[in-house]
Amino acid sequence: MKYDVIVVGAGTAGCLAAKTAAEAGLKVCLIERKSQREIGEKVCGDALGEHHLKVLGLSPPQHGELEKRIEGVKIYSPDLETVFTIKHEDFSGYLLNRWLFGQWLLKLALDEGATLYDHTQCLEPIIEKSYVVGVLAKKVKTNEKVRYEGKVVVDASGFLAVVRRKLPKEMMVENEISKEDVEACYREIRQLKREVEEKNYCEIYLNQKVTPGGYTWLFYKGDAKVNAGLGVCMRDNFPNPKKQFYEHVLTQPVFESSLLLDGGAWYDPTRRPLDNMVGNGVVITGDAACLVNPIHGGGIGPSMLSGYLAGKTIAEALEHNDVSQNGLWPYNVKYMEDYGIKQAGLDVFRLLLITCKNEDLNYGMKYRLLTEEDVLKAGLGQEFSLNITEKAKRVFRGIRRISFLNKLRITVNLMNKVKAHYKGYPKTPKDFEKWRLKTEVLFAEARSKLLE
Ligand SMILES: Cc1cc2nc3c(=O)[nH]c(=O)nc-3n(C[C@H](O)[C@H](O)[C@H](O)COP(=O)(O)OP(=O)(O)OC[C@H]3O[C@@H](n4cnc5c(N)ncnc54)[C@H](O)[C@@H]3O)c2cc1C
Repeated sequence: MKYDVIVVGAGTAGCLAAKTAAEAGLKVCLIERKSQREIGEKVCGDALGEHHLKVLGLSPPQHGELEKRIEGVKIYSPDLETVFTIKHEDFSGYLLNRWLFGQWLLKLALDEGATLYDHTQCLEPIIEKSYVVGVLAKKVKTNEKVRYEGKVVVDASGFLAVVRRKLPKEMMVENEISKEDVEACYREIRQLKREVEEKNYCEIYLNQKVTPGGYTWLFYKGDAKVNAGLGVCMRDNFPNPKKQFYEHVLTQPVFESSLLLDGGAWYDPTRRPLDNMVGNGVVITGDAACLVNPIHGGGIGPSMLSGYLAGKTIAEALEHNDVSQNGLWPYNVKYMEDYGIKQAGLDVFRLLLITCKNEDLNYGMKYRLLTEEDVLKAGLGQEFSLNITEKAKRVFRGIRRISFLNKLRITVNLMNKVKAHYKGYPKTPKDFEKWRLKTEVLFAEARSKLLE
């Protein structure tokens, strides 16, 4: 079976890649191990910022896929004494019915003419003369092996990254990522006994003892339903997220006599994007390329963006008859420009949060060593510096926690340095190795100064 584009995985990244490539007139197939009906089901917090859809020209969810509108985020300090309320159009959006949202995206791809092969598990890429020229797959029901040939393969298989992990070293794509860059998560959707008061904010609870390097979320969906879960950084002897959830979250009074509607565990790769996401005949998207916001773990938006950019870039590369790494390189450049710079800066901030003590977080939030505006600016990917008069005040307030204040200052400086470096992302593969080495040096510096 021969295609222009083979997309592996019909999640948010895959559906957008298939839709965009098919829209450009290409012959596209989507290979998905689940049944068509199951597509869209995912262990997720189900929150999506409105701006992600606007950027892609997609209409807002309006039917069953919309469960609730949200106005922003509330972040609670470990002692619950301080609450940061972040209200901004970039933090307002939707709580989705994830399954129906996924089904809607799939329909957009199929309506453009993409062909779906469901119940079909991709086993590995087929590589000939240093090009990916297709994939070997297995029909889940019969175990029959099938070969799909294509000019470009898109890895949109999520955290499993079934194509990426088997690419040859010469393609300069990282096959494996560090465990420390992944959050292990557990999430349940529960029916509460009674409706809680009107809640229009996503609630995030920081507590390094319950969720080291991560957080707990409570997203109220209306009709007395809540999406609740937590994530922990997979560093050292990290705790079991499900155990933490049952011991620390479900024991809260709000869950008394609640009913479990759906539960599950999964991984979230919360680091900077892969340094390079293309090889000859192959493009990596979504979670497979680690395109998640490092601070809050949101990846629906960036995965859709990456799928869209992959579809566009592939169409252009095919027009020029060049699907080499060089021909597909503009995908890297565009993604870094649109979201990667911000993601890389936030990856530095994540390193600070991983080792923060509860006392530092309580103190830092209470005395506004970091203000709501700083958090907002960081979240928007804008530069922020501790301004002079404010800085003086903060030093004064921080006198008892000078080491934390120093770490904060180092973090802000490094974030700005990293972002400046990413603004110079190489325009062609030729300059990549030099850039990558500098990236390594910068993150090694961040790790040595912030992770102790
Ligand atoms: C607990 C948790 C909570 C989260 N909460 C949020 C949130 O509130 N908001 C947000 O924006 N993001 C959230 N995220 C992140 C978000 O879910 C992901 O970033 C996003 O779904 C990535 O999309 P994707 O298309 O790359 O991968 P996926 O959605 O994982 O899709 C991958 C697809 O590939 C298929 N596949 C896998 N292997 C194969 C194979 N061998 N052959 C064929 N098909 C295969 C899978 O079945 C799946 O359909 C959360 C993640 C977790 C784990």
